[in-house]
This record gives sequence, C-alpha cells and structure tokens, in this order.
Amino acid sequence: MIKGDPIYITRPLLPDLQSVNKRLNEVWESKWLTNNGPQQSKLEEELKQYLNVENLSLFNNGTLALLLGLRALKLTGEVITTPFTFPATVQALDWNNLTPVFCDIDPNTLTLDAAKIEPLITEKTTAILGVHTFGNACDVEQIQEIANKYKLKVIYDGAHTFGTKVDSQPIGNFGDMTMFSFHATKLFNTVEGGALTFKEGALSEKLNLLKNFGIANPDEVVLSGLNAKLNEIQSVIGLEVLKLVESERQKRHEIKRTYEQNLKDIPGINVLTKLEGNSSSYQYFVIQIDEEKYGNSRDWLHEKLKEYKVFTRKYFYPLCSDFQWYDHLESARKENLTQAHKAVTQVLAMPYYGELQIESVEKICKVIRESR
Ligand SMILES: *Cc1c(COP(=O)(O)O)cnc(C)c1O
Repeated sequence: MIKGDPIYITRPLLPDLQSVNKRLNEVWESKWLTNNGPQQSKLEEELKQYLNVENLSLFNNGTLALLLGLRALKLTGEVITTPFTFPATVQALDWNNLTPVFCDIDPNTLTLDAAKIEPLITEKTTAILGVHTFGNACDVEQIQEIANKYKLKVIYDGAHTFGTKVDSQPIGNFGDMTMFSFHATKLFNTVEGGALTFKEGALSEKLNLLKNFGIANPDEVVLSGLNAKLNEIQSVIGLEVLKLVESERQKRHEIKRTYEQNLKDIPGINVLTKLEGNSSSYQYFVIQIDEEKYGNSRDWLHEKLKEYKVFTRKYFYPLCSDFQWYDHLESARKENLTQAHKAVTQVLAMPYYGELQIESVEKICKVIRESR
C-alpha cells in the first residue's frame, strides 16, 4: 500500500461523460440555464419517486435547503439539536436567529438521545432538529411523540441518508421536513445541491419564493428570500448520477461486508455503520476506537494509516457545542454532553466508495489489526 496510490476517504460518483454531453446539448439548445428549467423539473420528479415522497424541493446545496426550510416553518426561540454533527446543521439555526439547545447523544446510534430531550424543553422551544448520523436513523417514533406532546416541529438533517428506510418507511417521510445534501462527497451528487422533503404540500410555494428572492411575479416581491436555486447544469449531472446510485450501493455493500468481516474480532474496534439494521445508507463506513481495549487511540490510528497513504477522517470533529460563539450556552457545557464528548474522540470514517478495491480494504484492515 505504501508504494501504491494514496487511498482517500471518498471519491465522487461520476456520471458517464457522453451521456452528460447529450443532455447538455438539450440545455444548450434551449438556452435555459437556471430558474425552474426542464432539467430541474425532471430531476425533481425522479427524486420524488426514488425517495418515495410526495413533496420535494431542490436547492443549490443542503445547507441553504435547511436554512430556508427552518425559515419556512417560521420557527422562533430555541431548537433542540445534537452537538455531534457537521457545522451546517447548527449554522442553519444561527442564520435564522434560532438558539441551539444541545442535547446529548445515544452511545449506540450517536443520534439525539430521545430520553434526554424533554428536560431541555422550555416555553421558548419551537422545534427538534435531529441528524441521522452516518445513516443511523434517529429514534423517529419517540421524537415524534415528544413533539406531539409539546406541539413542536420536527426537522431532520438527512444528509447521510439518501434512499434509506426506517421500518420500510422512506426516511424522508418522518417529521415535518428532511434535508438531503447532494454535495460531491455524498452518495448521490449534483456537484453541489440539496433538497427538502416535507409533509405539508402548501410549503412548496413558500420554498419556491424563499429560494428565488421572494419574487412572486414580475410585479411583486412578497418576502425576503435568498438565491438558492439548483441550476440546469447541476440538474443534468444529477439525472445522470441517479442512474448509477443502485450499482454504487451494491459495490459499497461488498466493501462494507469486507470491512465488517475483517474487523469483527479486533478488540476495541466497533463498527458504527453496520449492514444490518433499518437504514444502511452506504454513505460512510465509520468505526469507533475504544483506546483501552484497542491499545491505541483514534488519533494514533488516524496518523498510523497515513503512513500507509490511507486517509481517514475524524468525522465529526470538532464538536459543534465547542464552537467559540456558543461559549455562553449552558447546554453547550461539557458536563451536559458526556456521550458526545466521548464519541468525538473515538470515531473514524474509513475510505468508502464503489471503486475502492476489495484488496485495499483487506490491507487497511490488516494495518488496523497488526500495527496496534
Ligand atoms: C454534507 C452535510 C451537510 C451540508 O450539506 P451541503 O450540501 O454541503 O451544504 C449538512 N449536514 C450534514 C450532516 C452533512 O453531512
């Protein structure tokens, strides 16, 4: 492996260039590059089918989708969320002047610990924002029950869960709204892009306004929006990448199986994103390193693998509750977030993409096993 090419954590799923060109010809002929074009409409329809949802709206990235989704729901005050996520989740709250209230995570799924939500609810709370971390679904039933009891909205960051299910229900159908990211590093990509799926069909119009400066018609601007539209070129990429997702999932299935078989009896190595279970997102393959049992730390392994030109990622790291602008929040204090603080020192996302050779996976596992 030292002599071979470097192995990166991810490689984008790239569509067939000839098919892309064919479709781009259509765009060139139409001279319609953005603003609700035919390619975008087609992608929207195909994604509704693929994700098995009734309502879906496309955006130029997942972050703006979430930011504007929260805006469309007219949230105020405080939103209960997880510290163990990508910065975009909490920054979408910041930009809506919403205060995050950090809730600790479940040590098994690393998603919001539903049992710890209720004590954090105040009269200012308007929503719960969960993250389906690494494709492990939140406790959607329990969260919905709490939300119903206190009349709160439920929003999910589903950036890692393209096409996954919970108890055979499409994941985009839980809560009031779910965000998907179509960034180049995600299983399905439009280079940059994202979507919201949502329960209430009436939100469709609102979201269309929010992503296009609030322009209702040539004579009227009815609300303060942003520019967050997915353009025709991105949509073309999406239409072609979507054709490849199923075969990519199958390749990743084999890679996952190989990782699991080769890691299963190494003391202190726990696979967080197992094949079985209700949602295999095939987005990441993440392990958790128990320093005491493994004999070395996560950071040590991260560095060790680099010597073999294997690039892993401490993901998520750092913890969002440690951002300096949350210093004043009581919920951000370390003593309230024991599990999150533990997870952030233990998780490591491994190289994971369809073209990764099975042989490379075996070698990576060998390094993990033998260099401890
Ligand atoms: C990728 C990601 C985002 C951000 O999505 P973009 O499309 O890059 O804006 C948000 N949340 C999580 C959990 C992500 O992994």
